Amino acid sequence: MSCIFCRIIAGELPADVVFEDEHVIAFRDINPLAPVHVLVVPKQHYASLDELPSGDTSTAGHLLLSVIETAKRLDVAGGYKVVTNCGERAGQVVLHLHFHILAGKKFAP
Ligand code: AMP
Ligand code: ZN
Repeated sequence: MSCIFCRIIAGELPADVVFEDEHVIAFRDINPLAPVHVLVVPKQHYASLDELPSGDTSTAGHLLLSVIETAKRLDVAGGYKVVTNCGERAGQVVLHLHFHILAGKKFAP
């Protein structure tokens, strides 16, 4: 398996997990860009947001709710930024869909 996030999900690589359920895992970014920097990742492999099936409101909704739940557990509700890089031209490096939660510093608007 070559996808690094699939390997984390499979337990083959270590990660600092902050939230997990049947469909989603959230772990701390290895190269944090803010005091709190966590990645929320679906366990099913989608290369990016563009690959989410268009009618699958259940997966899309669960992912978004998992971002909110992870922020609550990190104690940053009300003060965090959510980013997903969709495609290499947008700066995506790991080609497995993930949402960055960034918090703990002042961000430019
Ligand atoms: P992106 O540019 O949106 O694809 O971001 C990929 C993110 O994954 C970067 O912020 C990396 O620091 C992070 N990352 C890469 N490998 C790991 C890993 N093994 N554990 C945690 N975070 C990672
Ligand atoms: Zn993957």
